[in-house]
Amino acid sequence: MTKHHSRQALATAIAARLKKCYPDAQCALNFSNPLELLIATILSAQCTDVRVNQVTPAVFRKYPTAAAYAAAAADDLKNDIRSTGFFNAKAAAIQNCCRQLCERFGGEVPRDLDALVALPGVGRKTANVVLGTAFGLATGVVVDTHVSRLSQRMGLSTHTQPEKIEADLMQALPQTEWIALGHRLIEHGRRVCSARKPLCEQCPINDLCPRIGVDGARRTAAGGGTQKSARGGAKKPAVRRGSPSDAAKAKRGKSADRKLRGRRSAD
Ligand code: SF4
Repeated sequence: MTKHHSRQALATAIAARLKKCYPDAQCALNFSNPLELLIATILSAQCTDVRVNQVTPAVFRKYPTAAAYAAAAADDLKNDIRSTGFFNAKAAAIQNCCRQLCERFGGEVPRDLDALVALPGVGRKTANVVLGTAFGLATGVVVDTHVSRLSQRMGLSTHTQPEKIEADLMQALPQTEWIALGHRLIEHGRRVCSARKPLCEQCPINDLCPRIGVDGARRTAAGGGTQKSARGGAKKPAVRRGSPSDAAKAKRGKSADRKLRGRRSAD
């Protein structure tokens, strides 16, 4: 059996088990239309979904359309989303994104991956969330910090870059599985396979999972041999959230935040 086929078989078995465990797993962000989900997903960068859900009811009431975000006073919007963190960068991303939605798409969220990732503040992860959850379009697998960590531990990908992990998952499973797989891996990461304390003994897929990087002995994804990590200890799980383009956009936002803070203290 080739490496590709063994990974495919493993992914199929894990996906079937996750389906039994979390048949109704859904996106944890609250929304009632594609624009709300887009805004909530932008706000969820470096923030918990619980916190985002606390903030969004008032935000969605105050800004019901893309035009409303575009026309808002920047300081008002920053204050409204402040508790989600990185509010300067997020407010700028939301306003720039909504201006482009108004100029190019009549204020509507496009149902197209390329069009979405071209918008400010929108990376591949955000685009997949919106297309999969709001429109039911399986354009890829959402790879956030949970999916990234679990894919590596489960031996479904040897990569650490979200886009490469996503490519491995898309290759291993049929397109009809992509949307649900993301939701279920996230649910499993939250409930059982946490970053710091994975509950392997109680885990419903522990007979399938190679637990790569979890117990100090790192097994290869192709199945089998063990190798010690460089320090002889557990490989640190990846903690990046979002695709490289999401991460790059967040990083740019972070330095923009720093610049703004610097400017303020200089004033
Ligand atoms: S067996 Fe352990 S590492 Fe594997 S999915 Fe379960 S909790 Fe995570």
